[in-house]
Amino acid sequence: MIPFLDLKQQYQGIKDEVLEAVGRTFENTAFVLGPEVAAFEETFAKYAGAKYAVGHNSGTAALHMALLAMGVGEGDEVITIPHTFVATVAAIMYTNAKPVFVDVDPHSYTMDPSKIEAAITSKTKAIMPVHLYGQPADMDPIMEIANKHGLMVLEDAAQAHGAEYKGRRIGSIGTAAGFSFYPGKNLGAYGEGGATTTSDDGINERLRILRDWGQKKKYYHEVLGYNARLEGVQGAVLNIKMKYIEGWTERRRAIAKQYDEAFAGLKHVKAPKAYADRRHVYHLYVVLVEDRDGFMNFCKEHGVGTAIHYPFAIHTLGGYDHLGNVGDFPVSEHVAARCVSLPMFPELTDDQAKKVVEVVHEYEAHLGA
Ligand SMILES: *Cc1c(COP(=O)(O)O)cnc(C)c1O
Repeated sequence: MIPFLDLKQQYQGIKDEVLEAVGRTFENTAFVLGPEVAAFEETFAKYAGAKYAVGHNSGTAALHMALLAMGVGEGDEVITIPHTFVATVAAIMYTNAKPVFVDVDPHSYTMDPSKIEAAITSKTKAIMPVHLYGQPADMDPIMEIANKHGLMVLEDAAQAHGAEYKGRRIGSIGTAAGFSFYPGKNLGAYGEGGATTTSDDGINERLRILRDWGQKKKYYHEVLGYNARLEGVQGAVLNIKMKYIEGWTERRRAIAKQYDEAFAGLKHVKAPKAYADRRHVYHLYVVLVEDRDGFMNFCKEHGVGTAIHYPFAIHTLGGYDHLGNVGDFPVSEHVAARCVSLPMFPELTDDQAKKVVEVVHEYEAHLGA
């Protein structure tokens, strides 16, 4: 069986380094924040092309704290997309602001900039595009609209470590960007983790206070704060992984290239489109298939693991159905009903990728012309 995702192989490859660094952190008893986290923040800020990176205990916390640091709260509206992981939308709701959806582009499944202006009201405070699956959203028009209307931009970069838009790193374009280090993400901690990048001095300062109980100095709690700090061990693991992230990313891109070439022109399995002006980092390789259940079963029977990201547009889910009606965002709903993620991780071998291609081709042949 070719798994959809395998985290074991990568661990085996870096095990000695990881155990040494984790042991060192335990010896230092720097369990929360500390020198490993500070070093990681510096490295990751550079990597993302930003002045600062602030470590958090999840990607969700990074997005939540970033919105708070940008001053988003009760009575505000934040424009985002309904085809994403639920955390994007939940982070907005945690601040008591209202998520306002616009549909996605039918090719990249990221925010369709032509839909934004119609969604802007006097309450709109920020735009929150998602670099879904590892492909940057179309940031130039998004930034242009934001600047024209005096809005801030928070990038949900949870799936886009090292991605680039017109030569610029993701994490350096909007007002701030939130990254996730959930284990399965392109840069994964060994537990929960996240970070916000920004080049704004005020936002950086507010983030450091917000994540640490609202205190600038111990016990001087000046604002309502949170426990949202990155753990020392996660910093230690992430520091090691930063040495490999570029190689791993290039390997993802090479696998995607094999898939792209093999799937071009298929009738039943629609390959994803990567825009030439962006560096797609393929957190996920997602195809669209009309008979999703049939395709996934076929793959399983032929030894290929698959997954769905994500099966429901957010406005069609129980906790979020006040944010829209079925039919309001047809492209998101279309994609959510048909998307299938194929095996994609740096340790996937060429032979395994070939086998995935064979099975997809067999599925096509089995359905006929
Ligand atoms: C993973 C993810 C998040 C949340 O990150 P966590 O670290 O799991 O809290 C937010 N947005 C998107 C698009 C994600 O994929």
